[in-house]
Amino acid sequence: MSAPAAARAPGEPLLELRGLTRHFRLKEGLTGQRTAVALDGVDLTLRRGAAYGLVGESGSGKTTVARLILRLLQPTSGQILFAGQDITGLKGEALMKLRERIQIVFQDPHASLNPRQTILFSVAEPLVIHRGLRGPALRRRVEELLETVGLPGGFLYRYPHELSGGQKQRACIARAVALNPELLVLDEPTSALDVSVQAQVLEFLRDLKARLDLTYLFISHDLSVVRYLCDRVAVMYMGKVVEEGAVGAVFESPSHPYTESLLSAVPLPQARQPEGRIVLSGDVPSATAIPRGCAFHPRCPRRIGAVCETAVPRLDPRFQDHAVACHLYGSGS
Ligand code: SF4
Repeated sequence: MSAPAAARAPGEPLLELRGLTRHFRLKEGLTGQRTAVALDGVDLTLRRGAAYGLVGESGSGKTTVARLILRLLQPTSGQILFAGQDITGLKGEALMKLRERIQIVFQDPHASLNPRQTILFSVAEPLVIHRGLRGPALRRRVEELLETVGLPGGFLYRYPHELSGGQKQRACIARAVALNPELLVLDEPTSALDVSVQAQVLEFLRDLKARLDLTYLFISHDLSVVRYLCDRVAVMYMGKVVEEGAVGAVFESPSHPYTESLLSAVPLPQARQPEGRIVLSGDVPSATAIPRGCAFHPRCPRRIGAVCETAVPRLDPRFQDHAVACHLYGSGS
């Protein structure tokens, strides 16, 4: 199932986001319009073979990043490079080819599978469309994929309602890896599952990544899951990355007050908990009215005055390989 080794040198940049920005125009009244900023100048590099976590509250822009990478949305500005190629404006056949190399697993396996189609049909679909497989060869390939995800041949002719939540998510993963992708975007893949099943699926995902030589972009609001599965993490708030680094560094030494508040809300084994529990005041602001300066300043327990209200903090390296966007560390633009 693997691509040639030369094409998959571990550690090289696989996906690079440069200044990625996405605005949405919202109608207001009969004639008015407002602009919602879903993503604002995001720079990220995913290296081949990494498991990269993207965390933040809902509305932080995580899912917009996924939809832009998959080219389900067009960015307002910025660039997306995949394996060194600019894919920002790909169309037609070139875009179709790209989708063989980048696949997604969605949060809800119930909604991802057609209830009127057997598992054989659902998993076979990309192989028929992209590879033109038919007949016994198609069936053999689907059996092999189901075997890979721990669903033996007896599942071929079952319908989604005959499977548990964990089994359905495994079938979705089988479909996602059917075309031997290089990057798998996992958008909250365990959050719709029972807690007891979540651990099994996470363990399976970790094993699958090694077996199929995959790179993961793992989107989650659950820090313990990111801690378990990922080696790097970016924390997002209001469409921007506010902290980025190796999982160990960010979880052991959280620097941004927002990261501290997220960590303080979820006790994590082996992670340094900030002194005392930080309870954020106020709600997440609207994407149509992002606060000036640091977008986090109305809720920040450590804000340091006018600079936080007027100047946008830059994402600057604070330690080696660990970057933070916060005026507490002298970053500003
Ligand atoms: Fe808080 Fe200021 Fe840092 Fe923003 S820049 S997180 S308001 S201290």
